[in-house]
Amino acid sequence: MLAELESLTPLAPLHNPANIAGIRLARSVWPDLPQIGVFDTAFHQTMPPKAFMYALPYDLYERLGIRKYGFHGTSHSYVAKRAADFVGKPFDSLKIITCHLGNGASIAAIKHGKSVDTSMGLTPVEGMIMGTRSGDLDLGVLTYIIDKEGIGVQAANTLINKHSGILGISGVSSDMREVLRASEEGNERAQLALNMYHYRIIKYIGSYIAAMDGVDTIVFTGGIGENSAITRSEVCKNFTYMGLELDLQKNESIRGEGFISTNKSKVQVMVIPTNEEAVIAEETMKVVEANKVFVMNQKLKQL
Ligand code: AMP
Repeated sequence: MLAELESLTPLAPLHNPANIAGIRLARSVWPDLPQIGVFDTAFHQTMPPKAFMYALPYDLYERLGIRKYGFHGTSHSYVAKRAADFVGKPFDSLKIITCHLGNGASIAAIKHGKSVDTSMGLTPVEGMIMGTRSGDLDLGVLTYIIDKEGIGVQAANTLINKHSGILGISGVSSDMREVLRASEEGNERAQLALNMYHYRIIKYIGSYIAAMDGVDTIVFTGGIGENSAITRSEVCKNFTYMGLELDLQKNESIRGEGFISTNKSKVQVMVIPTNEEAVIAEETMKVVEANKVFVMNQKLKQL
């Protein structure tokens, strides 16, 4: 299993080595302790090929595994299931759009209990404008910059991952609170960054509504999704055409989880603080329980 995980390192060069080091260390301290890996990509494995494939030569998918994997799966899964609990309907009967807006950000389309599309891709740089990541970009822009600036692959990667996004546009900070403050003080680039940030979210939600042929519930989570009333109201403004009605009072005052749409809104809008640890614990329990049965069966066979 460890060898297989190591072979996947090229797909997650920043995350895999650190996690594998943790597994090895734990094994050296507690050699008999079972260890369970919960993958942030797992929830998105239900995406259909039309959503996860890139329109590149097919053999790149076969040889290198180039496709959309998506991330934040534990978070999207947690808040979507929690939303279904609140709405009081079965998870697999709903169309839900979950917006995980933190320093990293992604949106997922969850139809009848399954992730059918999500904005992050092979790497976390696709999709939303984030703290320091560009999100979607004309690929020609990157090759043009590489050519004009004479930079290598590594520097180009750093450019789109570390120096872009909210930080790159505003020149103020990658921290949304500081950018909001700067915009209130009249900083035009901070305002531009916010406008672009909200516009990108609106476009993705719109496209996922089309992809799912409708939406029942939109959920906001992550540091910005949970705390920024401005972001939620700016985004929701553009969906009044389909009967979404935000309760402005609730949107301002909500702390923790709950509805921020009115009772007569045709689309329910919720804030749900994410809890990835709970999902990890649940998935771990499932594997431990399944393993218990397996071990018991093995023992019975031996009798
Ligand atoms: P996360 O990665 O989920 O911890 O989210 C971090 C982001 O949430 C940063 O951009 C913070 O500025 C932002 N954030 C945290 N609290 C607030 C708040 N009250 N209003 C706006 N943004 C916030």
